[in-house]
Amino acid sequence: MSCMSSTDRPLLNRRLAAFGTTIFAEMSALAVRTGAINLGQGFPDTDGPEEIREAAVRALRDGRGNQYPPGPGVPELRTAVAEHQRRWYGLSYDPDSEVLVTAGATEAIAAALLALLEPGDEVVALEPYYDSYAACIAMAGGTRVPVTLRPDAASGTYHLDVDELRAAVTDRTRLILLNTPHNPTGTVLTREELAAVAELACERDLIVVTDEVYEHLVFGAGHTPLATFPGMRERTVTISSAGKTFSFTGWKVGWVTAAPPLVAAVRSAKQFLTFVSSGPFQYAVAEALRLPDSYFEGLRADLLAKRDLLADGLRDAGFGVFRPSGTYFITTDIRPLGESDGFAFCRSLPERCGVVAIPNAVFYDHQDQGAPFVRFAFCKRQDVLLEAVTRLKGLAAE
Ligand code: PMP
Ligand code: GLN
Repeated sequence: MSCMSSTDRPLLNRRLAAFGTTIFAEMSALAVRTGAINLGQGFPDTDGPEEIREAAVRALRDGRGNQYPPGPGVPELRTAVAEHQRRWYGLSYDPDSEVLVTAGATEAIAAALLALLEPGDEVVALEPYYDSYAACIAMAGGTRVPVTLRPDAASGTYHLDVDELRAAVTDRTRLILLNTPHNPTGTVLTREELAAVAELACERDLIVVTDEVYEHLVFGAGHTPLATFPGMRERTVTISSAGKTFSFTGWKVGWVTAAPPLVAAVRSAKQFLTFVSSGPFQYAVAEALRLPDSYFEGLRADLLAKRDLLADGLRDAGFGVFRPSGTYFITTDIRPLGESDGFAFCRSLPERCGVVAIPNAVFYDHQDQGAPFVRFAFCKRQDVLLEAVTRLKGLAAE
């Protein structure tokens, strides 16, 4: 038996070896380096409400949250999360045993997967999927089983094929990992699609972890949490966060709502990841969650106008456009521009026209399925979007 020297052995373990640097970090760095307009990483270029910023400053000054907050989150925020779920969805959760505050949705996803999976368990997830899902499933020793959302150019939307979902579930499936509104496609799963997921989860006795960080960024009928479907409250781990809803992506305040045994399991993993985080911001987010309906309506109206500005601009620039029903993102098809490789397209775009975008292929296991699709974020100031559109129209003249 040969003994491998430490220099022969890669430093990064084999569970993470495939993951490299996130596409968001890569593309944001490219934008900074080239001075291009960054429509890649999804963060707003205008901060959230002044009064909520002031609430964070007040908490800091008053010494609320400057030392370790309680492990499950400050009671004010847990109560506000429970009130929010009741106010918007009629769901009732006990702030003490059914709400857990996390370091953004990112930690909630990681903790849920690390807590609920045994090595070898299968996780069914909708492809394309948010990049941290694959990495966290891998860190937990799980196996991901993608179910590909199908693009329909005629309707400009993506669909879940319920039969494919059904076929993906095996005796090794532990959980379904769902995301609606969906990044990167901007799809909001229909009631029928959600009902089918719920029925399948009950029939096969599966847990569902559902990432609903874009719950307030929906442009048609409102968001419906999976936990509202029959039989689902007891088997659903619902995840959300303040980043998108209140335009403070740097604060990293997220939360989990679920039945007590599920929250207890997720908390067991979470306590050894960050233990706690974002002390003063937790108080500010508690206030944010209680903002009047007019705040949420204003956010949606503002984003809807930006969606249409960018979607129309991309269409006029020659892209195939999937006009999203939710999120910050527009997925485009670059084939009408005579292109087919989203990676190459995105890497060349800053030089060609001074704009950065994200190749959807990074969100796929079946990379061929995602190759010609490219994601643009519209959570940017109107003048920035107008300038980006002007630049993108230059592509047609090349
Ligand atoms: N899930 C999805 C689908 C996302 O797009 C993001 C990025 N904002 C996250 C989770 C991470 O959320 P947070 O910034 O609250 O950690
Ligand atoms: N959720 C953001 C996006 O999809 C990025 C968050 C990150 O950089 N990890 O663009």
